[in-house]
Amino acid sequence: MPIKIIQIKTLQDNYAYLLVEESSTQAAIIDPGSAKPVIKALAAENLDLSHILLTHHHYDHSGGVSELKKHYPKAEIAIHKDDANHLAVSANRKLQEGEKIDFGNALIKILHLPCHTRGHVAFLVENALFTGDTLFTAGCGKFFEGSTTEMYENLKRLKTLPETTNIYCGHEYTLENLEYAHLADPANQTIIERLQRARLRQIDEEPLVPATLALELASNPFLRLNNNALQKQLKTTNELDTLVALYQIYYRETPSF
Ligand SMILES: [Zn+2]
Ligand SMILES: [Zn+2]
Repeated sequence: MPIKIIQIKTLQDNYAYLLVEESSTQAAIIDPGSAKPVIKALAAENLDLSHILLTHHHYDHSGGVSELKKHYPKAEIAIHKDDANHLAVSANRKLQEGEKIDFGNALIKILHLPCHTRGHVAFLVENALFTGDTLFTAGCGKFFEGSTTEMYENLKRLKTLPETTNIYCGHEYTLENLEYAHLADPANQTIIERLQRARLRQIDEEPLVPATLALELASNPFLRLNNNALQKQLKTTNELDTLVALYQIYYRETPSF
């Protein structure tokens, strides 16, 4: 039975995701930046919470954890072992690369993607990938605790997933990311069309997340580092230099190697 995904807006522009495994009525929340909207969604669906899953330790992804734990004391808090000691509450489960979490009749697979934080993970469930602040729709997260080379390896790995994978990221940055993508790759028709559609949409009512990996591969410059037109525009000749050049456009900072 497929997993139902309920997308919840938290804080300013964060997304938390409530996963419901319908055969067992188990529910898991990914990245609860605040507790209130999550409690409301669980009550509306008449669900108990079995798992609190964190892509990384930052407060805008974990700020709701202690409040949720008070309401749902049986919920298991899971975070990568390298991020666990940054949490205000103690984790029940410290995750590692390749681990799988039993979730009713489904499995949640852990991909360790260190760079934004040391213990950043993505959660893969069926054809949904929850990327936190590593991969954004049309963009990429900041390299706060890692190097360009590490992010390069992460991006390379994510590109190998099936193209039908839906990317659910931690923030609604799609429109501004597409504006930067258009600067970096001005002749890219997919970016132009995606940008036009994004400008017309009411983000508050209609989220621009998720996007398929196929669409991201065609229009997210961070997944197109070997593209000739992009390299020509950025005056680079290899993928790592292209990644640095993109980071400078998006974040106006030079990352380290
Ligand atoms: Zn973050
Ligand atoms: Zn964040």
